[in-house]
Amino acid sequence: MANEQDRLEKERQRTEEEIARLRSYLETELERSTGEDDDAVDTAADIYEREKTLALIRTLEDKLASIEHALHSSITGRYGICERCGTEIEPGRLEIMPHATLCVRCQAETERRVRRTRVAADE
Ligand SMILES: [Zn+2]
Repeated sequence: MANEQDRLEKERQRTEEEIARLRSYLETELERSTGEDDDAVDTAADIYEREKTLALIRTLEDKLASIEHALHSSITGRYGICERCGTEIEPGRLEIMPHATLCVRCQAETERRVRRTRVAADE
């Protein structure tokens, strides 16, 4: 258990650092684009770059939430157990994704549902 918490803590730290790095990059970019006079017009490439960074930050924030969730599970002794169907999550999956709280099957089902919801929300 302690081993898992250790891994999750490290993963959380890495993710937080990555988010901080991307945020400061984004701030620098925004300052640069508003700081210049004549060249202040953003190119499509600039905007695309920023959108991409923002999307990445959002993904990492989701991941951070999952890590914290998994940390909580490991403290309560539920780590490695699928929250949806209660079966053990494959060890190989936890190896790659220590913050996983769902088994592969439930994860796939949840993602399908989330995608449907997001598509519906965009319309
Ligand atoms: Zn499951």
